[in-house]
Amino acid sequence: MINHEFKKKFGQNFISDKNLITAICDDAGVSDSDEVLEIGAGAGSLTEVLNSKAKKVVSYEIDKDLQAHLQLLNLDKTKFVFGDVMNFSIQEIENDFSGEYKMIANLPYYITTPIIFKFLNGSKRLKSLTIMVQKEVAERIVAGSGGKDYGVLSVMINFYGDAKITRIVKRQMFYPQPNVDSAVVTIEIKEKYPQINKDEFYKFVQNVFAMRRKTLKNNLLQGGYDKNKVEALGEDVLKARAETFTLENLIKIYQSIV
Ligand code: SAH
Repeated sequence: MINHEFKKKFGQNFISDKNLITAICDDAGVSDSDEVLEIGAGAGSLTEVLNSKAKKVVSYEIDKDLQAHLQLLNLDKTKFVFGDVMNFSIQEIENDFSGEYKMIANLPYYITTPIIFKFLNGSKRLKSLTIMVQKEVAERIVAGSGGKDYGVLSVMINFYGDAKITRIVKRQMFYPQPNVDSAVVTIEIKEKYPQINKDEFYKFVQNVFAMRRKTLKNNLLQGGYDKNKVEALGEDVLKARAETFTLENLIKIYQSIV
């Protein structure tokens, strides 16, 4: 990629190593029956490999300075969309796909979680996400209950899917080089998630983890939940800290206080 002025504000850290790019596509299990959504085409290095493996690729890129370069790649199965992916509705994005699709992205760090939640919350057709994120975020995504990495992100992603880290990627693999290492995470969307109000449950989980050093009782009362219902949970539950509860525990607690 010559003559590109890299824009930090767009989280531009490009990868060019073919082995790494191929490995990411393998982590996602991309085959010629898959339709793929890429977010952040960059110089198109991942897009090119996806184009050769998938049935169809739709790739969003916010930086219009990359438009000429990307279009010159002449990728026959790829549609580029130039704009901020956050400004498109899920419906608009999904109109380009015939059915289910996979997301693969070396995500811009500054909007990693908004992008993940936009799709987890809003999509019914996304099958999996294979995303490069900061290593520290990856650890929070896959964390189980009990540790310091376990929090709102771990619970909510576990609510929607099964997440695992498929590889650690050193900062030296990127240009320009970021200050942190990265990791590839795959999230397979669960066929069925619990039949509860997602937005209310999300608010509940945020309340539960609002003050990590406080007990559940404190956090729930602070969150404005009904005092009688909260107290009915019993002392053992109420004196525990947020990080000790599994997703299943949290769903039960939620259901008994709303
Ligand atoms: N996929 C490329 C580039 C990754 S860097 C590679 O792996 O080499 C992240 C890319 O996302 C950048 O090109 C950046 O311009 C783009 N980007 C950042 N914010 C975006 C947004 N809101 N919508 C679409 N693309 C975005």
